[in-house]
Amino acid sequence: QVTDTLAKESPSSPSYDWFQTDSLVTIVIYTKQKDINLDSVIVDHRDDSFRAETVIKDYSYLVHVALSHEIQEDFSVLVVENVGKIEIVLKKKENTSWKRLGHPQENHNSIIPKKDTGLFYRKCQLVSKEDVTHDTKLFCLMLPPSTHLQVPVGQHVYLKLPITGTEIVKPYTPVSDSLFSEFKEPVLPNNIYIYFLIKIYPAGFFTPELDHLQIGDYVSVSNPEGNFIISQLQELEDLFLLAAGTGFTPMVKVLNYALTNIPSLRKVKLMFFNKTEDDIIWRSQLEKLAFKDKRFEVEFVLSAPTSEWSGKQGYISPALLSEFLKRSSDTSKVLICLCGPTPFTEQGMKMLHDLNFSKDEIHSFTA
Ligand code: FAD
Ligand code: NAD
Repeated sequence: QVTDTLAKESPSSPSYDWFQTDSLVTIVIYTKQKDINLDSVIVDHRDDSFRAETVIKDYSYLVHVALSHEIQEDFSVLVVENVGKIEIVLKKKENTSWKRLGHPQENHNSIIPKKDTGLFYRKCQLVSKEDVTHDTKLFCLMLPPSTHLQVPVGQHVYLKLPITGTEIVKPYTPVSDSLFSEFKEPVLPNNIYIYFLIKIYPAGFFTPELDHLQIGDYVSVSNPEGNFIISQLQELEDLFLLAAGTGFTPMVKVLNYALTNIPSLRKVKLMFFNKTEDDIIWRSQLEKLAFKDKRFEVEFVLSAPTSEWSGKQGYISPALLSEFLKRSSDTSKVLICLCGPTPFTEQGMKMLHDLNFSKDEIHSFTA
């Protein structure tokens, strides 16, 4: 009975095959889906273990083997989007003929609900750390060459560090290195750097430890998670972003993606809530972007401003929202994204419902 239900709900069964030349081994995954891209597959090669996880809707299809022969560290991943085919090209260490790909490992060649796959981690090296505000830093981590992983727009990962003998895990949302970085879909392969904007809380459990890492030290990074679906942006005309503090982080890629890839887009407005001017992340970049791209507007709202502040003040409120959320036409397709401290997000959601925005027009980022 359970198997029957699964079979009905899970996507039509993916499969894989492999072939070789003297120097290469190519693994081909047939997803039988059209909406597959370079974000859909996560590949890790460690010692002799090779693991490729293909995310298809709420399911993961795994190719997981102990390879029969040694391969070189780097490999390439190609996706033929219109037929949903993924090719992973491995380089043999020695030009011998392989009789088999390898021994099956856990969940090899099976499709399982994504929530049951568990978080898979790889160790990434801290490459740089830059001050952004008095307490927020831009961290750059480098993926190992034996990993292919791209974090989809709107998704987060978990970072893991051993702290006093226990492994501690917290979620963080990757950003681009700046608001002006090139953003093309599909993202080029070999994208080995992941950037994070992280606020350090002196009394916090995890962030002081992260801040103590030296360049060259390692942090474990999980596979991506999250329920933002990029197709929510298709044919969008008005995009409203309501961010508080580091709740700005998911907005970075959403903003970049929408401005670059959504031709129907007329307007993107960010309302950015912070305590003081000193807390505003990437303020000058936001102002420059608004100057450069007339579709984009930014408004800062401070909850603890100094007496010199002449802009908007206070917490999120119906008055602020009804003034800010003006559609470019009565029928325009709208999306409102919301992210920040839990009370901010909860109050904001309620206010948006009271303003008659429908569920489909609102996305809140949470864990
Ligand atoms: P914590 O130990 O959790 O403490 C945080 C603050 O609360 C400190 O000031 C601490 O003193 C105070 N505090 C702790 N416990 C109590 C208590 N019982 N009573 C009163 N005060 C208390 N953060 C980012 O900076 N960047 C991101 O991109 C980002 N992305 C996220 C994505 C998701 C999906 C989620 C859910 C969260 C994200 N966060 C992000 C937040 C992040 O996961 C951590 O919560 C944050 O870094 C704090 O971790 P910490 O262990 O250092 O602090
Ligand atoms: P902060 O304490 O600096 O506050 C920023 C602003 O949030 C304030 O100026 C205020 O406008 C608003 N705010 C704070 N408390 C509020 C309350 N009780 N009611 C209404 N509005 C309130 O924020 P921070 O320290 O940068 O924290 C950011 C939060 O965003 C964290 O809780 C973090 O976990 C969360 N976050 C979540 C995600 C996600 O779920 N995807 C991603 C990034 C950050």
